[in-house]
Amino acid sequence: MKQKKIIIIGGGIVGSTAAFYLSQTPNMQITLIDDGTGNATRAAAGIICPWLSQRRNQTWYHLVDKGAAFYLDLMQDLQKAGITHLPYKQTGTLVFKKKDSLLNQLATLAQERQKHSPMIAQIDILKGQELSTQIPPLVTDQGAVLTHGGGRVDGGQLLDQLLGLFQQQGGHFIQGKAQLLPDNQVQIDEIIYDYDELILAAGAWLPDLLTPLGYKVDIRPQKGQLLSIDTHFTTDNWPGCMLHGEIDILAFEQGKLVIGATHENDQGYNLSLDREKIQQMKEVASAVIPDLQQYEISHTRVGTRAYTSDFLPFYGRLSEHPAILVASGLGSSGLTCGPFIGWQLAQSILKQPHEFDANPYSPDPYIKIQGRLKSE
Ligand SMILES: Cc1cc2nc3c(=O)[nH]c(=O)nc-3n(C[C@H](O)[C@H](O)[C@H](O)COP(=O)(O)OP(=O)(O)OC[C@H]3O[C@@H](n4cnc5c(N)ncnc54)[C@H](O)[C@@H]3O)c2cc1C
Repeated sequence: MKQKKIIIIGGGIVGSTAAFYLSQTPNMQITLIDDGTGNATRAAAGIICPWLSQRRNQTWYHLVDKGAAFYLDLMQDLQKAGITHLPYKQTGTLVFKKKDSLLNQLATLAQERQKHSPMIAQIDILKGQELSTQIPPLVTDQGAVLTHGGGRVDGGQLLDQLLGLFQQQGGHFIQGKAQLLPDNQVQIDEIIYDYDELILAAGAWLPDLLTPLGYKVDIRPQKGQLLSIDTHFTTDNWPGCMLHGEIDILAFEQGKLVIGATHENDQGYNLSLDREKIQQMKEVASAVIPDLQQYEISHTRVGTRAYTSDFLPFYGRLSEHPAILVASGLGSSGLTCGPFIGWQLAQSILKQPHEFDANPYSPDPYIKIQGRLKSE
């Protein structure tokens, strides 16, 4: 039987999840291509807690809620495939507010959402000593809403595991920059590859890939930077902290704290480190965990998020070119919804029905050869 040739361009969370699931199917030749430059997934903080967002867009919420729940399926599938040290854990998430009235409003929102999102689990308002019990070195007079179902994921570890399994399951990985040619072909350096179906999971670089074929794409880049500090705290079960403003503190195993991130809309695809911004974020975190002042910064990360003009992700087949599937615009919650999107793209290629209605996320309004984009 002729093998179906699938090419995936982009080895972030979307492309790697699709590659992992597709490579479990016989009679497919799957090639994943990544140029290793600006992966947002490896740069990400790792908060998986969409339920306390004040954003009221139901289409967005429905997707990120599904995405957070899909982590449980993905972890089971990784375990079945032999992974013992999982990159995802539910340690809860704290969202801080300065006023009691705002804490109560947020807790009410979480309770409303919990009716349809049972994964939120228990919801508490914590203050003073109750917060120190969760995170002993924390010093703050603010209160926080704790959702016990909130999770954290190490995006780099998850990618390494997905890519490792993909290759064990017979998939081919190529490091290089891919270019699209007409007639179902992709070129890397001098070599040309044919495909039956193509997934473009190139994150913020999707316009680069599609412009040579004459497409206009509604995607803009946003630079994000963060830092990590290796501490001596026992952080394994600390909940994630979403502070007032854009700074979050996320604890991983063995004392590692990830602090960030910036949201810079004026930097294009610039991936250089801005030490001043990194230092400012460390100071914000040290204001609530003063012991952090005695530690040096261990690592820094820079990545590029992709945004559409209406902040909604899109994914699915291009109606003008149905052999091509795309996904982009995942924004700042892409680690949350990325695995679910990658899985759905795989299901679409495998022609497996699933009950989630993907129509509201169609790429059509965002990618056009002729006519106007949604943003124009
Ligand atoms: C600092 C930061 C913090 C974040 N924190 C969180 C968080 O806590 N929670 C959350 O849910 N989300 C978070 N996000 C968002 C999330 O990381 C992204 O939305 C998500 O990872 C995007 O995944 P992706 O697969 O679409 O793209 P990417 O991970 O960017 O992967 C795309 C890949 O395609 C490759 N590529 C592009 N063009 C080509 C080509 N022509 N040839 C070959 N390869 C190509 C790129 O090099 C890249 O590796 C954060 C993002 C950043 C930057």
